[in-house]
Amino acid sequence: MNLILLGPPGAGKGTQAKKMVEKLGIPQISTGDILRAAVKEGTAMGIEAKKYMDAGKLVPDEVVIGIIRDRIKEADCAKGFILDGFPRTVAQAEALDEMLKGMGQDIDHVISIEVPDSALLERLTGRRMCSCGASYHIMFNKPKQEGICDLCGGKLYHRDDDKEEAITERLVNYHRQTAPLIDFYTKKGKVRPIPGTGSVDDIFAAIMDAVEG
Ligand code: ADP
Ligand code: ADP
Ligand code: ZN
Repeated sequence: MNLILLGPPGAGKGTQAKKMVEKLGIPQISTGDILRAAVKEGTAMGIEAKKYMDAGKLVPDEVVIGIIRDRIKEADCAKGFILDGFPRTVAQAEALDEMLKGMGQDIDHVISIEVPDSALLERLTGRRMCSCGASYHIMFNKPKQEGICDLCGGKLYHRDDDKEEAITERLVNYHRQTAPLIDFYTKKGKVRPIPGTGSVDDIFAAIMDAVEG
């Protein structure tokens, strides 16, 4: 099953993706996690991408399209994948369509997680991340031990782009560049709208209904 998680920054894509991986047995592919790993390693791609990420802007399409092109060919994607944070522009969505067509595949469902902007600032300023991709919240989703990842024992950190100025920029760019994808995939009959407020478990149950129903 090939799935896309779509939603604004802070909607809960990463949180839900981790639970879906466990339940569905297909990998999460997060372009944000892949880019942050490249930044940490100091690769040429990472150094270039960091400028955009810290400013709350999207990394150029060709960079992320290249990442996905390589990643979805890997063996662990044979039974499907969960795209988290990709596509984010119509150009990326069109490139993805082409790639999948070339592989004789298609997207099955686009899970559109809906959270009003008014809730996102608090979610993002309070978010704490692990390098394994797990995310926590200082109020809403605390790790068992403060500052430590439940999944891997890693040390949690506050992302450079989870500061108010970059968040505002990311939300503007989401509405301008990414939200049009809801329309793009609605026309293809792929969108499953999921209210993204409420408990993590209730949202997860709604997602599972949408993909298994
Ligand atoms: P969030 O979890 O807040 O939605 P991500 O971790 O998905 O954020 O992405 C962090 C940053 O990485 C983005 O602000 C952007 O700079 C870059 N990025 C991630 N995915 C993409 C993409 N598909 N296209 C362009 N830039 C991306
Ligand atoms: P995204 O990947 O879409 O940017 P995350 O999964 O990282 O979003 O979640 C953003 C922040 O909101 C994190 O701090 C996370 O712990 C918190 N969060 C996730 N789901 C919920 C929820 N249903 N209610 C409240 N906070 C949530
Ligand atoms: Zn971790």
